[in-house]
Amino acid sequence: MIADAGRVLAGGATSNWQIAQPQAVWMSHGQGSHVWDVDGNEYVDMHGGYGACIAGHGYPAIVEAVSRQVTRGTHFAQPTEDAIWVATELSRRFGLPQWRFANSGTEATMDAIHLMRALKGRDLVIKVEGCYHGHHDSVQVSVLPEPEEVGPPDAPNRVPGNTGIPQAIMDLIVLVPFNDLGAVERVLKEHDGRIAGMILEPVMMNAGIIPPVDGYLAGLKELLHAHDAFLTFDEVKTGFTTGPAGATGRYGVTPDIVCLAKALGGGISVAAIGGTAEIMSAIGDGRYEQVGTFNGNPLAMAATRANLTHVINDAGYERLDALAARAREGFEDHIAANGLPWRVVSVGAKGCVAFTGEPVRNYRDFLEVDDRWGHLHWLMQHNGGVFLPPWGKVEQWLLSVQHTDEDVDLLVSNFGRLAAVAGRSTHG
Ligand code: PLP
Repeated sequence: MIADAGRVLAGGATSNWQIAQPQAVWMSHGQGSHVWDVDGNEYVDMHGGYGACIAGHGYPAIVEAVSRQVTRGTHFAQPTEDAIWVATELSRRFGLPQWRFANSGTEATMDAIHLMRALKGRDLVIKVEGCYHGHHDSVQVSVLPEPEEVGPPDAPNRVPGNTGIPQAIMDLIVLVPFNDLGAVERVLKEHDGRIAGMILEPVMMNAGIIPPVDGYLAGLKELLHAHDAFLTFDEVKTGFTTGPAGATGRYGVTPDIVCLAKALGGGISVAAIGGTAEIMSAIGDGRYEQVGTFNGNPLAMAATRANLTHVINDAGYERLDALAARAREGFEDHIAANGLPWRVVSVGAKGCVAFTGEPVRNYRDFLEVDDRWGHLHWLMQHNGGVFLPPWGKVEQWLLSVQHTDEDVDLLVSNFGRLAAVAGRSTHG
């Protein structure tokens, strides 16, 4: 069967990012914190479906909620009461009064950008160099540009993140480095009255993990509002992996718009966009049509409700924080024992190793991280029974509430083998 993959599936997978060279890892099933591939190999799953599986696999309350809904109808293209429950809960956690649903992070950030432009009647949007916000045109600019493509730091090139992206759309994006309020202030002045808003990940998670420096997020909100522009947090990845109210709650800065997806649905595809009363009124009165056949799908809403109730709660975070601390300490011990300059970076349930001794504050710094160690790490974890996302230094591991201390210890001991190799090759 797998031999047919290359014949009937373009590129032999169902998304380009499922291909861990030379081919996708074909999964058979998952249970708890483990997954099994079609050859019967068992792994501790810390790929987590690119950050979605914070509940692990087959979490009983989610299985129960989804099974119940399957027997009651999986799709009506009409709202069900669970949508009200979920929106109420998201309002409580994120401090934004109104919500809408969609099916992927891409749709959520697309709606956010449309809304910022629609409400301000302006076309320019500020985007952070190196941030990924999905695969719609407006944000496919300088996602993971190569070092030779980026141009000077104070006048970065707009590099298409894919083929098929019109230059005219890219020209509407104003690039800034992460963690640099001065750059945002400069471009707001330079394009005075033409900027609708800014979109960013509050913790950059498309370049390993780059946390915001103190005061950055609050400073952005102040600057943007002073220039009559909106602030959007793309919390597709950070929402629920950094805390029960995402980075918004963790850093105490409420933006004008929050986008959620990935871990929201407990493993079922769902996205949400929340906004201030001013912004969401544009949807309410039809100035902006936020639509989609499967929006608020009953299966997704039932899974999301169960996930928010049973998994993404204070008890869940207590468990995740303990596992994260165990992983961090284990990694730090191996780094120190082998005299390496590397650092382990973790925020909430997400973690990675920055294979560098230098501080990483933005994408330019990240370009200096040694990717060869990232790839070798993936391979050593894979051969050692831990399934990580295949993108070396770019991606992070995800802990789920079903992971055990033993799972974390395996992650750490596999890393120990890499650290020993790196130590020997560095110190001879
Ligand atoms: N925003 C961020 C920060 C992401 O990491 C991703 C996906 O990786 C997206 C948006 C797009 O989400 P999706 O793949 O569900 O369209």
